Amino acid sequence: MLFDAHSHLDMLVQNTSNIPALLETEIQGGLGALVQVSTDPFIHNACFPFLQASGKEVYPVCGLSPAFRGHVQESLYNLNLILRQGQLFAIGEIGLDYSRSPSAADRENQGDLFRRQLELAGNYNLPVVIHTRDAAEDTLRFLDEFPAIQGMIHCFTGDAAFARALLNRGYMLSFSGVVTFANAAALREIVPWVPGDRLLVESDAPYLAPVPFRGQQNRPSWTEHTLRVIAGLRGCTFEEAAAGTAQNARRLFREQVARLPD
Ligand SMILES: [Zn+2]
Repeated sequence: MLFDAHSHLDMLVQNTSNIPALLETEIQGGLGALVQVSTDPFIHNACFPFLQASGKEVYPVCGLSPAFRGHVQESLYNLNLILRQGQLFAIGEIGLDYSRSPSAADRENQGDLFRRQLELAGNYNLPVVIHTRDAAEDTLRFLDEFPAIQGMIHCFTGDAAFARALLNRGYMLSFSGVVTFANAAALREIVPWVPGDRLLVESDAPYLAPVPFRGQQNRPSWTEHTLRVIAGLRGCTFEEAAAGTAQNARRLFREQVARLPD
């Protein structure tokens, strides 16, 4: 049972009406379930009917990422409408990305957007999917403002201290194809000691295709290659790693029942 905890199906198809066929192909290729992450409400609205029509185990998630450059007020309003209809299993990906040396004003905008969506997650009692790059200290500062919120760190690539700090706060760590890359030795040292009930695996398709497909457009079913490396590092079988990560993903996403704010 291969559960891809983070993918962008909308970026793999010309038209979202092709999503059911794509999912069918991926499931033939060994995929069991996945999380669809829509990076703005319009994308979610374009995907949602086809995710439902697919009849597969698919979890829609939507949020405004740190790279979001649209109209914030309008998009948050539309995100709220989607939340009110109970269509989401989490809010994300949201967070901070300092990898392109943003200006002070840009950092402030990212922080603002992050905080407002953490508030939304609190209001709707939903977990969050966190994107964090080169912003460990600030990410922890924001998460600490919302200690009741749970979630996952998508494509974790931080160091051991950041991993420990996130685990101490109850978060799950999700590993992508990056763990298969030759230059990711430090990340591979973290994988073995993540508690078994906090570990997730993801494609982040169309990005970050694992070895031996590195550089190609990624597919959710290729998460198998990432999970094989993870299983090897943890000294367990592929089947055990697949069952454990799937169980964790279901616990995080399915057991959260969206609650409308009073
Ligand atoms: Zn992503």
